Amino acid sequence: MNVNDDYNELKNLDHRYIWHPFTQMKDWFEDDPLIIVEGRECFVKDVRGRWYLDGVSSIWVNVHGHRRAELDRAIREQLEKIAHSTMLGVSSVPAIRLSERLVNTIQISLGPSLSKVFYSDNGSTAVEAALKMAFQYWRHKGVKGRNKFLSLTNGYHGDTLGAVSVGGIDVFHEAFGPLLFETLQAPSPYCYRCELTDLSPEQCGLECLNAMEDILRDHKQEIAAVILEPMVQGAGGMIVFPPGYLKGVRELCTRYDVLLIADEVATGFGRTGKMFACELEGVSPDIICLSKGITGGYLPLAATVTTEEVFNAFLGEYKELKTFFHGHSYTGNPLACACALASLDVFENNRTLENMKPKIDMLRTWLKEVSALPHVGEARGLGLMAGVELVKDKSSRESYAWEDKMGVRACLKARDGGVLIRPLGNVVIIMPPLAISTENLSRMLEVIKEAIEVATA
Ligand code: PMP
Repeated sequence: MNVNDDYNELKNLDHRYIWHPFTQMKDWFEDDPLIIVEGRECFVKDVRGRWYLDGVSSIWVNVHGHRRAELDRAIREQLEKIAHSTMLGVSSVPAIRLSERLVNTIQISLGPSLSKVFYSDNGSTAVEAALKMAFQYWRHKGVKGRNKFLSLTNGYHGDTLGAVSVGGIDVFHEAFGPLLFETLQAPSPYCYRCELTDLSPEQCGLECLNAMEDILRDHKQEIAAVILEPMVQGAGGMIVFPPGYLKGVRELCTRYDVLLIADEVATGFGRTGKMFACELEGVSPDIICLSKGITGGYLPLAATVTTEEVFNAFLGEYKELKTFFHGHSYTGNPLACACALASLDVFENNRTLENMKPKIDMLRTWLKEVSALPHVGEARGLGLMAGVELVKDKSSRESYAWEDKMGVRACLKARDGGVLIRPLGNVVIIMPPLAISTENLSRMLEVIKEAIEVATA
């Protein structure tokens, strides 16, 4: 069978049997799909033999590159013992070892308060567990009425209905409105499109924080927790918080006595240049949600990590029914936990965070450069996560219409140049594996810049 027969057969089978997530299947049927067969370092290869730079980190998960020897080995070794066992009423060696290591890693970054690990298997479930924990915490303490969450517009926390309820991206979330629980929403600190003031972020005194305080003051007795993505709203379009905002939110949560849930599913494990984004403002949340990079991007795993204070509220006699009634079949999967341990070893042995510095500088310089392009409204980022917001009219900041598919067009151009990226609406997203070499990053950025120029010309 030659390569093309193989490709056509796979394409036909895909078209016949698969429903792809976040994909308009009508468009999918009209295009030739990219079918990945292999990966190595920061590249993925398709079945037709072409290699692409993985500029999307296989949807924001990959950290140390593909086929990383240490991670491959850890999974193989664990496979010799057991692939899966449950965490419901039973424990496992890799889950225990990882929990100690995770807590140590978190405490080095964020201080001593987070210490209890609740496992699940993806970002959405990490968030669901956090929401239910926060809600029940108040009930178990005998505090009534704390039935709501305060979230941000442009926030994204996953696709299950609890996570969607605290989401704030209308195109994803509005359709499900009648199914969702009611939440309070504070304005996103989206300075480029600020809803509150015409002043610059340096001058406005964080008007958005005042807006959050107004809500907390009026509704504190109803709010179980504030939930946000610390420092960068990822799926909302790589919206980077102005300095002081996150710290300000932490102070407000303490002052008004509500819990703070930090959803670090996208920002965690080095993505912003620190192990966890909260570290950038010296913030310690009451609950942190982790997934994606936790296994280096190899296997599904998540952790919702909280304080003794929250954990202790669930202790009681069996008959009191204070048990946290939540748990998924693949929670704390041993292969995934073994892989996560190996990933944390790689972080240490390869000084992953330190080695990011020249690459972060390169990306920052590039963002400044592309800001000058005629159809770039704003190019923003933190660490190795960035977004380039394309606009139809730079002076009025008018967005391209949905039907222009400008983000998609720019990303398809980049793909022609051997770089695999995926847009969020009109924002071109740049999310390479943290281990990408400076040479490959430089090449990737060159290709993306040209793709933006050609698509918007
Ligand atoms: N929270 C954040 C901040 C995310 O970016 C995502 C996924 N992009 C999720 C939660 C959901 O994670 P998952 O897709 O693994 O359910």
